[in-house]
Amino acid sequence: MDREKIKQLDAQYIVHTYNRYDVVVDHACGATVTDADGKEYIDMCSGYAANSLGYQNEKWLAAVTEQLGKVQHTSNLYYSEPGALLAEKLVKKSGLRKVWFANSGGEANEAAIKVARKYGNTAADHKKNTIISLKKSFHGRTLATVTATALAEAQEVFAPLVPGFVHAEVDNAEQLAELTDKYDPCAFLMELVQGEGGVHALDKSFVQSAAELCRSRDILFIDDEVQAGIGRTGTLFAYQQYGIVPDIVSFAKGIGAGLPIGGIICGEKTCDILVPGDHGSTFGMNPVACAGACVVMDTMTDAFLEEVRMKSEKIRGALTEMKKVKQLDGLGLMIGIDLDGMSGAEAVSMLMEEGLLAIPAQSRLRLLPPLTISEEETDKALKILKRVLD
Ligand SMILES: *Cc1c(COP(=O)(O)O)cnc(C)c1O
Repeated sequence: MDREKIKQLDAQYIVHTYNRYDVVVDHACGATVTDADGKEYIDMCSGYAANSLGYQNEKWLAAVTEQLGKVQHTSNLYYSEPGALLAEKLVKKSGLRKVWFANSGGEANEAAIKVARKYGNTAADHKKNTIISLKKSFHGRTLATVTATALAEAQEVFAPLVPGFVHAEVDNAEQLAELTDKYDPCAFLMELVQGEGGVHALDKSFVQSAAELCRSRDILFIDDEVQAGIGRTGTLFAYQQYGIVPDIVSFAKGIGAGLPIGGIICGEKTCDILVPGDHGSTFGMNPVACAGACVVMDTMTDAFLEEVRMKSEKIRGALTEMKKVKQLDGLGLMIGIDLDGMSGAEAVSMLMEEGLLAIPAQSRLRLLPPLTISEEETDKALKILKRVLD
């Protein structure tokens, strides 16, 4: 179909919740996307970090297709192999205890919030149900996760929001301790590397003091790794670089390698809080998404993660040399760039013109290449970045 026709259908029939870039994606391979006019782009957006293995990954494609030919969906009334296997992989590699599957990041965090609320409301000594999240956070678009997200606009137009959420300053341990005294929370909810907030890796000392408050006050530490998890930061989970073990880790985006799946991994304190009837999802633990996700988990070997760290070093090293690059933030292949005299949004438009897809994060430029990006594609991307940022 003609690209103008596609844009016209979109404008006429799709609720306008997205301001799209002027690119009609047609097909893709590796880390390269081709649009409807045949123009190629190195993809450093990766469907918002979802396409962790790039496009046309052979093992993933084979696993997904094989499962489609066996059974595409069953209900959680019955057992099935892919989800059980995937949960085992997630538990063994995280050191936590049990998994609950959803279909997206927002739903994963929603589940985490429900676990935390029930944990606090049924606590033996006294009831507590406030959740403290951080400013500049992003946790999803459901009513509860939008409330956890400290975005002022959403807080007004969708009022009344879900009660029981408090927002703390980023990297301010003293204030977090004060708020903890004041509100007696059942949980902290935070992204260790804030994605939408500007790709900011939280201070290690802040995260560790939050974890210490959790230990001493019986507060749950919910770590939202929807964007940062599954190899993106150079370790399977970002918390493995912070020297903490969360009580709940939420995951989505990268584990699906492009299919919708999300969920939470629960630790010792939280793995038996939800019981039959408390929560559910029709498509949760979908066998096709899970079969693909098993390939993603099997790909996350020490050698693969070491490669992710090396790719990150190479890209970050090259960026540091570019004149307009002021400062780099984030971890691994989750890269936030402060630019001199140019906003992230302006850079994105110029990069797109030159054949590279990137996204802004607040005022910054954000790069989220597939973890499997090849050396050749990396070099091509760095050339384009140099043309625009040097
Ligand atoms: C994208 C994102 C979400 C929401 O995920 P959806 O799959 O869009 O619901 C939640 N938390 C973080 C950190 C994210 O980056």
